[in-house]
Amino acid sequence: MTTTRRPIVAGNWKMNTTVPEATVLAAAVRKAVDGVHGVEVVVCPPAVSLVPVHAVLDGSDVGLGAQDAYFEATGAHTGEVSVEMLASAGATYVIAGHSERRARFGDTDDWVSRKVRAILSGRLVPIMCVGETLDEHDAGQTDAVVTRQVRAGMAGIGAHEALGVVVAYEPVWAIGTGRPATPEGANETCGTIRAVVADLFGAAVAEAIRIQYGGSVTPANATSLFAQPHIDGALVGGASLVAANFGAVVSAAAARHG
Ligand code: PEP
Repeated sequence: MTTTRRPIVAGNWKMNTTVPEATVLAAAVRKAVDGVHGVEVVVCPPAVSLVPVHAVLDGSDVGLGAQDAYFEATGAHTGEVSVEMLASAGATYVIAGHSERRARFGDTDDWVSRKVRAILSGRLVPIMCVGETLDEHDAGQTDAVVTRQVRAGMAGIGAHEALGVVVAYEPVWAIGTGRPATPEGANETCGTIRAVVADLFGAAVAEAIRIQYGGSVTPANATSLFAQPHIDGALVGGASLVAANFGAVVSAAAARHG
């Protein structure tokens, strides 16, 4: 199957890097992906480093993303950051519904939906994460879980807005464990997600929307993951903290789609 979908590889630095470390890493990523074409590349540093990393990336093709956003625009929400604030810091992507936020910080399906809508309203690109836990996986509930999460997360948006969403399929049991999903298994679930999108928004949107895989992606497994027809790139955690590794994952995506 050939696809015209442009792959997108995003690095989620999570709660790693001080401000000086983030600028050094960003500069190294910029260098590592220089000359690689055909892939949308994004780095998502901690919020305090968005402004300095934006300056480091200025003039490059590397996009800047935030790891989360609150859905309200302003007000008494101590500790939270709005989409407008993130945009003013230079972010053009925002992760929504990462499993660590869902598990540890109380993000519900409803909150993820409100965040996705707020991100779209701010004209930024949501990277909406979905994925089942190990218990759900073992109980054979993967399709049911991702179907629920995709339907809930995309509730209240139109087909045109859906085109601007990137979905990241991230099985929770694969994140940070060194135990990725098999390429075939990841592809099957990404196909399920695409079918849900088709049901919600029609075949053309489903064909165009980008679905990343995330969970222990490394240079060693990226090529086989990206060979799968429904996988349009990756959301990368641990491997994105080493510029050479992240660059190799980006190159793998370029090789498949180039
Ligand atoms: C993530 O947290 O989004 C992730 C995929 O992490 P890792 O690549 O480390 O599994």
